[in-house]
This record gives sequence, structure tokens and C-alpha cells, in this order.
Amino acid sequence: MIRRIATATTLIALASTALAGPAPADDARRGPVHPAVVKVKIIGKSVRGTPIRAWQLGNPNARRTVVAMAAMHGDELAPRRILWSLRDGRKLRGINLWLVPTVNPDGARRHHRKNAHGVDLNRNYPVRWKNLDGAYESGPHPRSERETRVMMRFLKRTNPRYVVSFHQPLHGVDSSGPKTSALARRLAKYLHLPRKSFTCGGHCHGTMTQWFNKRRRGAAITVELGTSPSKRYLTRVAPRGLLRAVGGRR
Ligand SMILES: [Zn+2]
Repeated sequence: MIRRIATATTLIALASTALAGPAPADDARRGPVHPAVVKVKIIGKSVRGTPIRAWQLGNPNARRTVVAMAAMHGDELAPRRILWSLRDGRKLRGINLWLVPTVNPDGARRHHRKNAHGVDLNRNYPVRWKNLDGAYESGPHPRSERETRVMMRFLKRTNPRYVVSFHQPLHGVDSSGPKTSALARRLAKYLHLPRKSFTCGGHCHGTMTQWFNKRRRGAAITVELGTSPSKRYLTRVAPRGLLRAVGGRR
């Protein structure tokens, strides 16, 4: 039922988009494109047709590629400022860095955890997927959602060594995976966060990090900020800390 309503709404949204042109995404409005940005790319669209953008910074030929993403849950928006702040025009060395500040633009617009189909995107990946309802609605089947497929394609193409996925509000760096223990230590140290084991309320099924860690060579990790991180933390401390933890230099 939810899906049927969402589909109808999607068609209306798509029709109005065709007439009026796509609304500028929040990400795109955040300041001009700085010289340090190598490339801005639309990597796909959300259920409602909003572009999902990725910014490439640093050295495209660096041996290490890193992807940092935020707002997979549309009600966890503060960490986007960390990624926006990295586009400050200062040169970045040592890594090829891709930033995806808003993975779930439809949810972000409504400050809603799920996408426009009412699916929790972090339960929709094709690994240990389980049919979950309620707060963790996992969709009708694995990778049923457009946003999930966009990110899977992007992560396969960029083939990062590290993926850092920002969430809120559990205040910690997930230290449960053996593949990510060294990265977890560095992120905890430089982002001033404790190391924790996140259990997803017993519903760790079909998450992005599970999929990436199982199917790809690199390591993906969840970083949870607190409820209300300060402006200074988001614009200065955390951007610097993130770069330091993944091998970027200014
Ligand atoms: Zn989250």
C-alpha cells in the first residue's frame, strides 16, 4: 500500500520535474565549485528524480581512493557539513577523495530517515538481506531502491580502499569489523569519538558497510556523530580529522 501511494506520488513528482526542470539540490547550493574540486558528477537519481552528486577532490591518480558519504538517512543531516567543508578550495594531496554528501536526497528534503518509497536504504543492500518492517523497512527485495543501486554502481566504479559512512546520533566509530579495525582506531582518534560496536538494534541486515566489506576489496565503516555536533567540530575538527585518518594531506 505504501509502495502504491509512493509510486503515484513519484509519477506526479516526475511529471512536474519534466515541466519545471529539476530543483537545485541542497548540496549544489552550498557554495561555488572551488579550484580544489577536480570534478562534480551526477552519479544517479533518487526515486523522485533528484540528482545524487559526487565531488572528486585531491589527486585522481593517487593509489588510494576514499569515498565519504552522508545522509543515507534523511534525518541525520549534520555530517554533511563535514563533507561540504572539505570543498574549501585548499589543495588536497595523497588521496583521490570522492564526497557524496546526500545519499538520500528525498529523505533529506523531508528530514525523514527513509527514501520516498518508505525504505530504510541502509537495510536494502544485497547481503544478509532480511524482510524487515517498521523503522527498518528493508524494501520488497534486496537493492529494490534506486539510491541503493546508484551507490553500488558508484562504489564498484571508484573501487575505494576506504568508505566512510556518516550517521547520527550514536556517537562513536563502529569497531566491530576485523577488516576495519586499524581504520576505526585512526578515525576514533582524529574525530575524537569512542570506538563502539553497533548492533543496529539487532537488525544488521542489508547494510551498505556489510555489503561493501563482504563483496569488495576495500573497507567500509560507519561513523556516528552525536545529536548536535558543534559548528566548529563539523567545519574544522572533523574535516581535518577525516583527512588525517584516511591519508589525505593539505
Ligand atoms: Zn543512520
